[in-house]
Amino acid sequence: MDETFVKLRRQVREFVDDEVIPAEPVLDRGDATATARLGELRAEAKRRGLWALGHPTEIGGGGLSFLQTAHLNEIIGRSFYGQKALGTWSMQDSLMLHEQGTPEQRQRWLAPLVAGEIRSSVGLTEPEVAGSDPTLIASTAVLDGDEWVVNAHKWFTTGANIAAFTTVFAVTEPEAAPHRRVSAIIVPTDTPGYEVVRSVPTLGTEHSIMGDHCEIRLTDVRVPAANLLGARGDGFVIGQKRLGPGRIFHAMRWLGQMERAFDLMVARANERFAHGSKLIDKGEIRRHIAESAADIFYHRAAVIAAAQAVDSGSRARVEIGLVKVRGAHLLHDVIDRAIQVHGALGVTADTPLDAMYRRARYARIYDGPDEVHRDTVARLLGRDPNRVPWAVD
Ligand SMILES: Cc1cc2nc3c(=O)[nH]c(=O)nc-3n(C[C@H](O)[C@H](O)[C@H](O)COP(=O)(O)OP(=O)(O)OC[C@H]3O[C@@H](n4cnc5c(N)ncnc54)[C@H](O)[C@@H]3O)c2cc1C
Repeated sequence: MDETFVKLRRQVREFVDDEVIPAEPVLDRGDATATARLGELRAEAKRRGLWALGHPTEIGGGGLSFLQTAHLNEIIGRSFYGQKALGTWSMQDSLMLHEQGTPEQRQRWLAPLVAGEIRSSVGLTEPEVAGSDPTLIASTAVLDGDEWVVNAHKWFTTGANIAAFTTVFAVTEPEAAPHRRVSAIIVPTDTPGYEVVRSVPTLGTEHSIMGDHCEIRLTDVRVPAANLLGARGDGFVIGQKRLGPGRIFHAMRWLGQMERAFDLMVARANERFAHGSKLIDKGEIRRHIAESAADIFYHRAAVIAAAQAVDSGSRARVEIGLVKVRGAHLLHDVIDRAIQVHGALGVTADTPLDAMYRRARYARIYDGPDEVHRDTVARLLGRDPNRVPWAVD
C-alpha cells in the first residue's frame, strides 16, 4: 500500500469510527431524523474528499483499484450505514450503468447516482419462480412502437421505495435460448403502473433508511425504447456482470462487520467478571476469540486474493464464489461468538450485535444462495482443475 492510500484509509477509518458509528442510534430509527442525519454525514464525507472513492474517476469517483477498494470497504463495512454515508452503496449499479449504458442513460442516471442525488434498485427476483435460476424469469417486456410495455411482479427489490429507478429484468425474447430471453430495462419508479405493493418485513425489520425489501408490481408500464440497458437478450450477462463484483464488495464489508464484532467480544471479555475471574481469563472464551481471529485472518486473505485476481483482469469466478460462500458463514460464526460472550446483552438492541446477526443471515441467500455458488465452483473446477486459486503459473 502506498503512503497516499494509507493516509486515505486512515481518514476513512476516522470518519467511520468518529462520525458514522456514533450516529447509528439515530440512523437506526429509520425516520425523517435519521434521513436528515444521513444527509449531514454524506455532506461531511464529500467535504473531506471521501465520497464514492471506489468508483472510476471518469464517473466522479476516486478511481481506486479493486484491491484498494477491498481495503477501504473493510473499514466502511464496520458500520451498516458506512456505504450510504460514503457513497459506495450503489456501486454495482453504477458500474453496470457505466459499462452498459448509452451516453444519454449515463447522463440521466449515472451522474446523479454517483453524486448521491438519486438511488437505484434492481428487480431480478420474482416470488413465483426460483430467483436462483434467472432463466425462469416470468416478467415480460414487449416493444410497442418506440416504447417498452413492461409487466412484472418482483420482490426483494431492495430500495425500490426510495429509488428513482429500477433496472427490471424481463423476458423480451421468448423464443430465444434460455440465457438469451431476458433484457434489462430502466424503469423510473414514478412511471404510471409502477406500484410498490409493500415493504416485506424480514427477520423483524420492515423499514430502513437503506431502503426496504420491496414487493413491486408493474402493470402495462410504458417506458421509451431507449431505456433498454445493453442489447436485447443481454439481461443474463448484465446480471452476472453486476453480481460478480457485487459479491466481492459484500465479502469486503463482511470483514468490517467481523472485525467490529471481534472488537466488541474482546472488550466485553476484558470487563466482565464471573466465577472468580474476568471472562478473558477463561479457556472457553479465549477459544472463541482465537477462532474468530483465525476466521477473520483467513477471510481477509481470501478477499485480498480475489480482489487481486480481479485487478489482474480475471473474472475470478472461482475466487469470488469461494469468498461468497465461506465468508457468509464465517461472518455468522464470528458475530455468533461475540453474542455468546455478551450473554443476554448480546441479543438486545443495546449492542449492534443483534442487528449484525440478523443481517449476517441474509448473506447466505442474497446474490445467490450457498448451494448455487458451491455448485458453480465445483463445476468450474471439475471441468478444469487448473482454475484453482492456488495454481502455479
Ligand atoms: C436481504 C436480501 C436482499 C435482496 N436484494 C435483492 C435485490 O435488490 N434485487 C433482487 O432482484 N433480488 C434480491 N434478493 C433476492 C435474492 O437474490 C434471492 O433471494 C436469491 O437469488 C435466491 O432466490 P430465491 O429466494 O427465489 O430462492 P430459490 O431460488 O427459490 O432457492 C431456494 C433454495 O433452494 C436451494 N437451491 C436453489 N438452487 C439450488 C441448486 N442449484 N442446488 C441446490 N440447492 C439449490 C437453496 O437452498 C436456496 O436457498 C435479495 C435477497 C435478500 C435476502
